[in-house]
Amino acid sequence: MASPRVLLLLPPLTQLNTPYPSTAFLTGFLESRNIAVEQADLGIEMVLRLFRPEGLRNIFRQLHGHDDSLPKEAVAMMKAEHAYIDMIEPVIAFLQGKRPDIASHLIQPGVLPQGPRFRGRKKFARTVSVDDRAKQWATFFLEDLTDLVQATITPHFALSRYAEQIGRSASSFDHIAAALAEPPNLIDEWLLEVFWEHVNKVTPSLIGLSIPFPGNLYGAFRIAQALKQQRPDLPVVIGGGYVNTELRRVADPRVFDYIDFLTLDNGERPLLSLIEHLSGVRPRQSLCRTMYREKNRVVSANDPLSTDFTMDDIGCPTYRGLALDRYLTILDSTNPMHRLWSEGHWNKLTVAHGCYWKQCTFCDVGLNYISRYEMTPTDRLIRQIERLVSETGRRGFHFVDEAAPPAALKALALAILERRMTISWWGNIRFETAFSPDLPPA
Ligand code: SF4
Repeated sequence: MASPRVLLLLPPLTQLNTPYPSTAFLTGFLESRNIAVEQADLGIEMVLRLFRPEGLRNIFRQLHGHDDSLPKEAVAMMKAEHAYIDMIEPVIAFLQGKRPDIASHLIQPGVLPQGPRFRGRKKFARTVSVDDRAKQWATFFLEDLTDLVQATITPHFALSRYAEQIGRSASSFDHIAAALAEPPNLIDEWLLEVFWEHVNKVTPSLIGLSIPFPGNLYGAFRIAQALKQQRPDLPVVIGGGYVNTELRRVADPRVFDYIDFLTLDNGERPLLSLIEHLSGVRPRQSLCRTMYREKNRVVSANDPLSTDFTMDDIGCPTYRGLALDRYLTILDSTNPMHRLWSEGHWNKLTVAHGCYWKQCTFCDVGLNYISRYEMTPTDRLIRQIERLVSETGRRGFHFVDEAAPPAALKALALAILERRMTISWWGNIRFETAFSPDLPPA
């Protein structure tokens, strides 16, 4: 493989308001090494295949003629089928921030069909502004449709995770193998449709699947299964938070019926080593923190000379290729903290790698992403902020550290003030005496 082309994918499903940052970080890194790379978030794309008139028509079509065996809530929703189909486009446009003008219309009686999610929550909704109430009602509308799909098409589907229960019970590969032995459901089919569109467009020579949470595992393996059936020559690698914690000790060779490589901990070095291997310049035994199958056994390679890149050397995350204007605000709570997580786009960066504290007894401090502590140099962080503002046009930042260090936050805050930059930012912290009224956590 002379010039590799990498396609990094987020399988369904994380949050719907903003992309999970793993592919953005790795895309930025590979670009900094002049490697051709594209990325896509299949979660939002799959959800938008459902939440469109044609998607809902397909769902209702599958239910017609089965009224007797359906839950009574589903039957009631079928009676309002045309209202759901008529309103799905304006609701999605509103939640994408493209039709703010229709907020007051959406909360007029009779405009949105009101299913079970509206009941009992109206009182709560009356206390908020017109705009927030419209966001809540639009969210209830989508939640009703989600419940319908869950009850009638597939129990796997939820608004921020897909088949999570399979990932949570993956102590043996049997659960995932059994789920994959079932024919793809309608939602799976949409997932595979968007997946093949990206493969055909990018024509990659390596596909990377990021699995941060249990709710991404099934989607990743469903994609990998389809790929191995049609393109067994195309290598697939998985990595991410879920892999790092739950699959570190995987010994079942069946996992490698679907994938070719599994990497652990920070993805930059293992991915680069893998690309070098696939390009013919690195033997397989010299891969970095990478597992693969050999003679029907799972083996690990970890070249001791392949060290991790420093924070100064990993490039800048990029959202290139991700359609930020298609993400949805889901407002299911007016709790301000909850809203930070579920509303709007946040550019994601890390103030430091790892945790400076490493003393909580419940924490797996031996894991690389906790134990290897390294601050991002402030100048570099500022350059990354400037670059992301220019790329995305968004000035909100979420520092995705496990516990952002007060010293680094102070240095960052002073640098922002010196440069008269206007951004808003937030992140996770430990309660520390080092935080003061002058240096509050955002
Ligand atoms: S502060 Fe967070 S990351 Fe650090 S040791 Fe405690 S739980 Fe782990």
